Amino acid sequence: MEFAIDVGGTKIAYALVDHSRIMASDRVETADAPPAEQLRAVGRQLQAMAREAGAKVAAVGLSLPGPIAHDTLLQGPNLPKGWVGQRIQDFAAMLDLGLPLFAQRDALMGGLGEYAAGAGRGLQSLFYITLGTGIGGGLILDGEPLLGADGAAGEVGHFQAEPRGPVCGCGRRGCVEAIAAGPSIERDYAKRTGHAIGAKEIADRARAGEQAALAAYRRAGRALGVACAVVAQAANPQAVIAGGSLAESLDLLQPALLQSLRQHAWAANLPLPILPAQLGGPAPLIGAAYFARRGLGED
Ligand SMILES: [Zn+2]
Repeated sequence: MEFAIDVGGTKIAYALVDHSRIMASDRVETADAPPAEQLRAVGRQLQAMAREAGAKVAAVGLSLPGPIAHDTLLQGPNLPKGWVGQRIQDFAAMLDLGLPLFAQRDALMGGLGEYAAGAGRGLQSLFYITLGTGIGGGLILDGEPLLGADGAAGEVGHFQAEPRGPVCGCGRRGCVEAIAAGPSIERDYAKRTGHAIGAKEIADRARAGEQAALAAYRRAGRALGVACAVVAQAANPQAVIAGGSLAESLDLLQPALLQSLRQHAWAANLPLPILPAQLGGPAPLIGAAYFARRGLGED
């Protein structure tokens, strides 16, 4: 069995995992306290979980919301102070579990979860894209997670989809994230109608046939098609797996996405099916456990 920990900007989820099945799990808020304090508390909770289950745990998988390279967490824009710049072995010491620790970026862990136990079962190469308050991505190619020189392979959120599009949080214009993330769809809809409502409600209105809502989702779908085309050309995956809260609206995104994909990608790399993720929120936990098991050479 493995311990899995998914650190996010608002919560830290943790679980005891047995062959991709979550046996026990819990979560705490990501506090503005030093990571050492928080991870030590999580480590104690995990030990209690294992004791209660009578489980023998071999390794820990840690999912972090930013790229990791040179054994260091390089960025984490949503994390409180103290996390970025820490080394993986420092996180292991903070957890104080005395177990080997394997850490990676959350979108890659999510992709590994789907690969091992979700919509990607049976595939060898897939692109996992998370659609939520941001856009993240991770690649598994020929059965191997692709890390990249800076730990950010597959992060297509800041690829420019519209040269004159809206300004992005990164300071540039027309990034996929500035068009297709939840808050971006909300901004687009508000601009069209003057109504500030959530992405889910906009989706309901689109399904009811409202033109402005359909247009907002169409625009997001087109931008996502550009992102998927880039990945199709560079990595040639067998499928795209879409996760995150907005993946529930894949029905609305899909038509424009596929059209834009056909427009931007070479026919030899198509068709590229876009599949909904199956694991939901726990995908990074399941992926982290799988990554740890793999790290031990057991998968
Ligand atoms: Zn950007």
